Amino acid sequence: MSAGLTLTPESNKMKGFITISQEFCKGCEICISFCPKKIISRSDRFNAAGYLPAAFNNNGECTGCAICALVCPEVAIEVYRD
Ligand code: SF4
Ligand code: SF4
Repeated sequence: MSAGLTLTPESNKMKGFITISQEFCKGCEICISFCPKKIISRSDRFNAAGYLPAAFNNNGECTGCAICALVCPEVAIEVYRD
């Protein structure tokens, strides 16, 4: 009998998270539009430049796909994968 690890589709799913530089962000909302998981929203706090920056809502659904980072014109997003 095998006692090996069983990988279910759920445990095999890629996970990730992002950081958003609150000071680099200009609040353009492009990342909000492009995130396939819809887990980026607008902060309710202005940054030093007077913009409402994007905020990451980490609910465990981020896949680390990096689309948000690729479309950000301010290079404000960094992506990490588990
Ligand atoms: S890495 Fe992908 S899933 Fe995660 S926040 Fe960015 S666009 Fe959304
Ligand atoms: S795309 Fe970049 S600059 Fe625009 S809201 Fe998102 S993090 Fe901010």
